[in-house]
Amino acid sequence: MVVVGGGASGYMGAICAAEEGVSSILILESTVKPLEKVRISGGGRCNVTNATWDPSDLVLNYPRGEKELCGPFNSFSAIETVDWFHNHGVQLIAEDDGRMFPVENSSSSIIQCLVRASKRAGIVLHNQTMVTRVKQIAADDFLIYTRKGLVCHARKILLSTGGHPSGYRIASAFGHTVIKPLPSLFTLNLDAPWITKCSGIAVDNILIKIKISGKIFQHKGELLITHWGVSGPVVLKLTAFAARELKANFYRSELIVNWLGDPQINQVKNLLIDFRSKYARYSIAKKRPYLNLPRRLWLSILEQIKCDSTIRWAECSSKMIYLLSNALVSSTYPIAGKGPFGEEFVCAGGVALSEIHFATMESRLVKGLFLVGELLNVDGVTGGFNFQHCWTSGWLAGKGIARSLGDETVGMKMDL
Ligand SMILES: Cc1cc2nc3c(=O)[nH]c(=O)nc-3n(C[C@H](O)[C@H](O)[C@H](O)COP(=O)(O)OP(=O)(O)OC[C@H]3O[C@@H](n4cnc5c(N)ncnc54)[C@H](O)[C@@H]3O)c2cc1C
Repeated sequence: MVVVGGGASGYMGAICAAEEGVSSILILESTVKPLEKVRISGGGRCNVTNATWDPSDLVLNYPRGEKELCGPFNSFSAIETVDWFHNHGVQLIAEDDGRMFPVENSSSSIIQCLVRASKRAGIVLHNQTMVTRVKQIAADDFLIYTRKGLVCHARKILLSTGGHPSGYRIASAFGHTVIKPLPSLFTLNLDAPWITKCSGIAVDNILIKIKISGKIFQHKGELLITHWGVSGPVVLKLTAFAARELKANFYRSELIVNWLGDPQINQVKNLLIDFRSKYARYSIAKKRPYLNLPRRLWLSILEQIKCDSTIRWAECSSKMIYLLSNALVSSTYPIAGKGPFGEEFVCAGGVALSEIHFATMESRLVKGLFLVGELLNVDGVTGGFNFQHCWTSGWLAGKGIARSLGDETVGMKMDL
């Protein structure tokens, strides 16, 4: 078995196959550093998975792949990932928001775990070996060509090249459709001069919405105001789900923000009218009706509706109450473009999912070719979901390869 690409999904596939008894496994990695993305992930801490235990909730975090991952997650989901790493010597712990990290809080413990398990299983790694072409010459016989001129045979191929174009080329040469990759998980630049005054403010439970290409995308969560626009988990989630539509519209649209999360305009209006009579003598700038909105943001909202912040609540006209209610539940800001990527840089796009058997990750077009990880048209939102897909697809492929090699592997299963 030859694994093309020594990243998270390739290592997982190789180790699982070996532990199921597959012998003679070779990982070909183009760089000097396998598992490099694991190293830099999660700010060097590696957000391995997410404590979303129910597979039907887990799939909701994949803008592309939601339907196809139902089956795989019923076999190997977040809880199996935690068990797998535990059985291989790494304990994972969840943070309040569900993200799971190794207890040592460093990605190096994940790298050491995968490298140790692969060495123990006798898997051979060739660094600096870029695969340029893979050709099937007979059933269960592939020829692998590398840039160094090395040519080797393999009975099974695990293609795990991430988002590298060479992997897409290899898959296309086998007849696979590659959906053009485009950015997912990015921040938004807003054409809203008030924004710089609020940069650095993070507010939770904000509902944001985009109406684009006849569709409505909306998500609720923590929003971070930056110097140029907005970021934070809720923005990364929105841009992941609306990635294709935003790209098609040249990243121009309007962002509708409900600063209060849910309430309807009438509810807010009534609350503000009560507030006005109760705190008539107080300054509108100082006495805030919604304490979850920081003062700087409150002042900015007043400025946006051209409300003089030196007045007292008693002087706030009914028209002003209406404008304020409207600004609190549906402020609209022009989107001026795509901002920088979030920490987890991933692409939407890759090998078409209809061409993969999701029980084993084997290609529906080429028997013996297995495709996993980011190479596929699957991407998750931020929070450990992208690695979860790598562990799941790698695990399924490893098992699938072992099963397809059949009798030769029977009785050779490794004891952990
Ligand atoms: C900065 C950053 C932080 C991230 N943090 C997180 C996080 O905390 N949690 C999370 O869930 N996700 C995170 N992600 C996303 C996650 O890293 C990826 O989803 C994941 O690494 C994909 O794994 P993979 O095995 O499919 O591909 P990769 O990790 O990209 O591995 C592919 C490997 O194949 C090699 N390769 C490519 N082409 C060839 C070839 N032709 N021949 C030989 N070798 C080849 C590459 O050099 C690479 O080593 C982060 C991504 C980035 C960029």
